Amino acid sequence: MTPNNHTQIAREAFRKLATRKLPPTPANYQMCYNEIIGHPNVAGFPEANLRAISRALSARNPEQKKWLDQLDASIGKHSWQGIEEALSEFTRAMTEPTTMVAADGAIQTQDRADSDHTELRMKIASMIECGLPALGSADELFSRKSEDLLRILRDPESTVYDVHTELGDFSHRLSFIAEEQAEIKIVLLDLLHLILENVSALSLDDSWLKGQVDGLLAAVEPPLDLRRLDDVKQRVREVMARQSVAKARTLEAQEEMRRMLSDFIGRLSSMSESSFTFQHKIEESARRMEGIKTFEDLSPLLQDIIATARDMAKQTSQEHDQLESLKNKASATEEEITKLQQELLRASDSARHDPLTSALNRKGLEEALIREIAIMRRKETPLSVAFLDIDNFKKLNDRLGHESGDAALIHLVNIVRLSLRPADTLARYGGEEFVILMPDSALGDAIKAMQRCQRDLTKRFFLSGNEKVLITFSAGVAQFSREESGADAIRRADQAMYLAKRTGKNRVLGG
Ligand code: GH3
Ligand code: MG
Ligand code: MG
Repeated sequence: MTPNNHTQIAREAFRKLATRKLPPTPANYQMCYNEIIGHPNVAGFPEANLRAISRALSARNPEQKKWLDQLDASIGKHSWQGIEEALSEFTRAMTEPTTMVAADGAIQTQDRADSDHTELRMKIASMIECGLPALGSADELFSRKSEDLLRILRDPESTVYDVHTELGDFSHRLSFIAEEQAEIKIVLLDLLHLILENVSALSLDDSWLKGQVDGLLAAVEPPLDLRRLDDVKQRVREVMARQSVAKARTLEAQEEMRRMLSDFIGRLSSMSESSFTFQHKIEESARRMEGIKTFEDLSPLLQDIIATARDMAKQTSQEHDQLESLKNKASATEEEITKLQQELLRASDSARHDPLTSALNRKGLEEALIREIAIMRRKETPLSVAFLDIDNFKKLNDRLGHESGDAALIHLVNIVRLSLRPADTLARYGGEEFVILMPDSALGDAIKAMQRCQRDLTKRFFLSGNEKVLITFSAGVAQFSREESGADAIRRADQAMYLAKRTGKNRVLGG
């Protein structure tokens, strides 16, 4: 075909387009052109349209992705057969993800979705049930809404729409209740503060009780946590127990005083009675004396008077002895009351704390163990325990004296306490041995915490006079297993500590 021919055919093709009023698209132009030159009229390959379709499809699984790639490749190759195969396989991969027949597969997928939904609904239901006790039961409407929601969640017939509606209602009401509960907590705390302040004001003269109440007030400062509330509970119990003992013993002492007083009054009146009798006898003797004429008559009278005076002296001495013994008894009772008050003053600390270092004592440790083990089991968080023993403490005592040894123990407690977290518990287990409870700490973290204590001790020397003394310790650490008792875990930590001693001291080993 010459270019001239070509131009003429093209012109002719445009004319055809115009006379037939066809839109001048490349496909129509091609059609007219083919007609003029006598070629069969084959439509052009719609690559752009096919690519647009391919782009609109999205693969839901790797199989579909494979067929989508195949579709793109076939479009590129203008292969209708390839396109057809890719599209039909792509569709099959959508409805038939496994080797099963399409219908069964669809049912299976649907079944799985249904069972997923049922499981989800059951989970939401039990989550709501767990949370309900924390929200109180005072609000009737909320209780009803909760029941409705739980029923719908557990009803296999209910639709997603039903669940959606009930859940909406429930969460609306829940927002009020949660706000109210938070408010109640604040008001209760205020009330507790008020009561404690009142108790404190009423017991101004009782410094032991006042100290305890001040401690309680500090302990119930928000934010509260279970650990601190538990501590408050123990302390209130202690205050109440001590108070009732003190009250009973004070009442006893008062009763004793009252008895002695009435005895004393009795003695006084019998004394005045006997002096009255004596006076009466003397007067009578005086009267008899007036009538006496002879010396012989005087002799029996004098004997009477002497006998009366002797009786009187004897009685007075008896009264004196009895009064003396009463006085002694009274001062013994008074002494006992003073002793009781002093005992009370000491009692608050000595009940749970070691008086030298003010770390917890064995009793305090026992209480802390019960609390921490319960938290570990409830929250499923790790709990570790360390057993710490000062190295060569006997030598330190021998070289610097027992008092310096005491000060060294206090120094160690202060440094270790600063190094630990507030939630950790430090207790003096015996002479120079300490036990440390570390909640929320797995073995590795607990070992690191003890190594931090070691480093802090090397940074802050103990001063004995002007001498800087380095205190070191060996420690063993054990992480509680879920069912393990405090005693068992401490034993494991102790064994690890023993190993640390045997392998050179000043080290921390895990048990
Ligand atoms: P090791 O490194 O093997 O632990 O040796 P150590 O000397 O530290 O241990 P040992 O058990 O032989 O001696 C502990 C010493 O601690 C003996 C005791 O006099 C002293 N100790 C115990 N309680 C107190 C206390 O309250 N104050 C003072 N100053 N010393 C105490
Ligand atoms: Mg020891
Ligand atoms: Mg030691």
